[in-house]
Amino acid sequence: MSLPTAAYATHGPTESLQPFSFERRDPLEFDVLIEILYCGVCHSDLHFARNEWGMSQYPMVPGHEIVGVVRAVGSRVTRFREGDQVGVGCFVDSCRSCPMCLSGEEQYCDQAIYTYNGPDKVMGGLTFGGYSTQIVVDENYVVRVPDSLPLDAAAPLLCAGITTYSPLRHFGVREGQSVGIIGLGGLGHMGVKFARAMGTHVTVLSHSPSKQADAERLGTHDFVVTSEPEAFEAHANRFDFLLDTVSAAHDLGPYLSLLKPDGRMVLVGLPDPSPLSAFPLIFRRRSLSGSLIGGIRETQEMLNFCGEKNITCDIELIRMDQINEAYERMLRSDVRYRFVIDMATLR
Ligand code: NAP
Ligand code: ZN
Ligand code: ZN
Repeated sequence: MSLPTAAYATHGPTESLQPFSFERRDPLEFDVLIEILYCGVCHSDLHFARNEWGMSQYPMVPGHEIVGVVRAVGSRVTRFREGDQVGVGCFVDSCRSCPMCLSGEEQYCDQAIYTYNGPDKVMGGLTFGGYSTQIVVDENYVVRVPDSLPLDAAAPLLCAGITTYSPLRHFGVREGQSVGIIGLGGLGHMGVKFARAMGTHVTVLSHSPSKQADAERLGTHDFVVTSEPEAFEAHANRFDFLLDTVSAAHDLGPYLSLLKPDGRMVLVGLPDPSPLSAFPLIFRRRSLSGSLIGGIRETQEMLNFCGEKNITCDIELIRMDQINEAYERMLRSDVRYRFVIDMATLR
């Protein structure tokens, strides 16, 4: 027995996404069956769909910003019951015994299984993501979405939210520090909201001058247009912390020179490769780090934080059949600030 599921898939790097159907497994004893109500559209979906990282397998059903309602649970599930409002992010399993898993950082487990484009150990073949009507996931990889949050505007928290929250917390960003968010897209706009909620002085560094009013509405104190020639000199040595969310290749050096001595820049954007000179690091003892989403425990902590502070994403709701157009708009930086698919349009 298995569960027929409607979806949208791509069959190759230059193909568009098209209607697709496949079977989900029947819930096993620790599984939760989730009716997907909304799925966010992450720039990683586009990188993956077009094989920009050279590791894509097809057919591919993207989508890892999944929210919905529990419709059935396996016989040994203890944490969820029918009707619960839940979410699933970028991975659906991991080894559960390595040091990273044991410390709640499953995203860094060598055997983490991604929500799509990973091996499906039960059904064989590939895991299929959230551009679909339902998903079956082990309860340990499911999180609870606070009832106070609207589900559509909460969906992008499952990737854009945790990816920006985690490095701000992990690297100990503190009240009063000067934080710069580079790129005001899906990740960037959540970075602004979290950095602001943590009491920092927030600056957006954007190559889109038209986003200034939005940046201010989102809580930004200052706005720097990075395409202006004097921008980098004018703001040199100013920031304690920079979060780079840019999706296109860019020289990291000019951004590093904006950090104070001992300041840190964290890459979360994944264009690869990007040029890097050692000089701005060495001459002010600055640090450059990377960060990948966040673990299950921290994702739940982030969702609870959003529930308490009433933080959600700014979204544009789309129909499933608008996905190809949404990808093109995302490439033009024309998203305010996350597309979310209304999965009712696929049923
Ligand atoms: P997005 O919504 O498309 O936003 C990316 C932003 O980058 C754009 O809005 C734009 O901001 C800026 N940008 C785009 N093209 C640019 C260019 N040519 N020059 C300068 N700036 C440019 O994408 P997203 O979903 O936030 O994802 C951003 C990146 O993070 C992607 O590479 C994605 O794969 C990666 N990602 C990483 C993780 C992780 O765990 N580390 C998780 C999710 C996503 P402005 O218009 O303000 O300049
Ligand atoms: Zn993502
Ligand atoms: Zn592990």
